[in-house]
Amino acid sequence: MAPRRKKIYEGKAKVLYEGPEPGTLVQYFKDDATAFNAQKKATIEGKGVLNNRLSEYFMTGLTNIGVPNHFIRRLNMREQLIRQVEIVPLEVIVRNFAAGSISKRLGLDEGTPLPRPIVEYSYKNDALGDPLVPEEYIIAFGWANQQDLDDIVSLALRVNDFLSGVFYGVGIKLIDFKIEIGRVWDGDFMRLIVADEISPDSCRLWDIKTNQKLDKDVFRRDLGSLTDAYSEVARRLGVLPTNATNIKPTLIN
Ligand code: UDP
Repeated sequence: MAPRRKKIYEGKAKVLYEGPEPGTLVQYFKDDATAFNAQKKATIEGKGVLNNRLSEYFMTGLTNIGVPNHFIRRLNMREQLIRQVEIVPLEVIVRNFAAGSISKRLGLDEGTPLPRPIVEYSYKNDALGDPLVPEEYIIAFGWANQQDLDDIVSLALRVNDFLSGVFYGVGIKLIDFKIEIGRVWDGDFMRLIVADEISPDSCRLWDIKTNQKLDKDVFRRDLGSLTDAYSEVARRLGVLPTNATNIKPTLIN
């Protein structure tokens, strides 16, 4: 496919293209899935379409409750227009229940409720495998200052309350999730906003009744069809494309 726009950046699951106006980008959702720092890779038909829709749904909801984020509008099945930001090089992780790395690190059974939501940070660096970093490192190396971190925690907890409630409403428990934060400038004034994506690629989602996993752990741990899991999340939220019974890439733009 001939590129229509200048490619700015290509990551594991998304591509960023130059946007139609200054300060905007087009975010394209690929079908590629990676896990374990890209040691495990696959193409999962339809994943990009689902994540584009789901990220639109969550970001729009955040806008509606006053949580600033990069989403402007969806352009088509795989692309959305977003605000260009300067990404803070951190993965901001919020946990409500133990799973994944915290379970391993602290010997907690997956699903154990945490005493309160825990916010932690990984340094975004693929070569190092995104290591967990304390606030001390973040401030010392200048990735963010204390004021930024206060704002980031406040954003992360608002996103957590919003997502937890939305998922609870459709019988899904939000175990944990990752967000990324971007800086935008209004003149000399810098603000932090939610960026990147919010989708089952970056959340752990368990069915409340059965604990069935409806997130990327299905791929990480070979638990079945990832498309089925993400479609189920989209179906429950009512965000599956109404006019598309089939999300195969050949049928979409
Ligand atoms: N996560 C992510 N990208 C990463 C690392 C983690 O989206 O590079 C998400 C992951 O899907 C989970 C949460 O952040 O919802 C916490 O992940 P954890 O630290 O437990 O790491 P993992 O066990 O996935 O290595």
